[in-house]
Amino acid sequence: GAGTRGKSRQPSYLSFDQIGGQERAKKELVEALDFLVKQEETKKLGIRPLKGILLTGPPGTGKTLMAKAAAHHTNSVYIAASGSEFVEMYVGVGASRIRTLFQEARTKAQKENKENAVIFIDEIDVIGGKRDGGQQREYDQTLNQLLTEMDGIHTNTTPRILIIAATNRKEMLDPALLRPGRFDRHIDVELPDKKGRLSILNIHAQNKPLDEAADLEKIAEQTFGFSGAQLESVLNEAAIYALRGQQETVMQKDLLAAIDKVMMGEQTDREATQ
Ligand code: ATP
Repeated sequence: GAGTRGKSRQPSYLSFDQIGGQERAKKELVEALDFLVKQEETKKLGIRPLKGILLTGPPGTGKTLMAKAAAHHTNSVYIAASGSEFVEMYVGVGASRIRTLFQEARTKAQKENKENAVIFIDEIDVIGGKRDGGQQREYDQTLNQLLTEMDGIHTNTTPRILIIAATNRKEMLDPALLRPGRFDRHIDVELPDKKGRLSILNIHAQNKPLDEAADLEKIAEQTFGFSGAQLESVLNEAAIYALRGQQETVMQKDLLAAIDKVMMGEQTDREATQ
């Protein structure tokens, strides 16, 4: 999606303060992670393990970042996959990939001597879409395998596995996925408000020489509706303009031009897919 460029530069472990805005989502996620952080207490109180957290919201808002930060926060190994990787022509291949994914998480945790593992599945709707009546869909088996793996997670199994899934089409999901003991914790990751946009801009401006007169607050004001991924692009494009202009710093005019560029880019993307 829009965030591909930014994604490749991220380290695989990052902390919550590298995520701008999203204060409510971050708080809800940290609270949900308590069961991993406070394992003793959780056990004593007889709380059943939380197995699945569903992150919902538009593309490029930081869902992947949240999953990585969750892994870091809970001292877990992190493994990621995307729903589309499980779609295969041959029946059973998707299911066997799910098995492999969980196996990988266990092996990695053992190797790194960690008690917890976070498995992140982006685009969960691709495998977890509503099953329409009796119609057999080729990836029913994949979804069933995921449910089986989740049902197999118990308080005493090591590593403790937490699955974080993301979708921007929550209403498409099969209710079986949302039942208690599965993805029963939902966190909305929304487009950032002005304050959120400013904090995202500040994070991505850290490694860029901004002109003294550059005003990120104004940029935050003028980027209503932009996702975090788009804001990252604005700074990157602005830096490219600065390079072309043989400037040593990124100036306000570069940032303003970059806003237009990113907005136009979105438009041509959309036209291309129509
Ligand atoms: P998708 O649904 O397209 O996979 P996503 O919600 O998982 O999107 P991320 O992959 O987490 O989005 O974000 C893409 C990139 O956008 C990040 O690598 C980062 O550079 C930037 N970004 C997005 N949201 C934020 C944020 N809240 N704070 C800082 N950077 C962000």
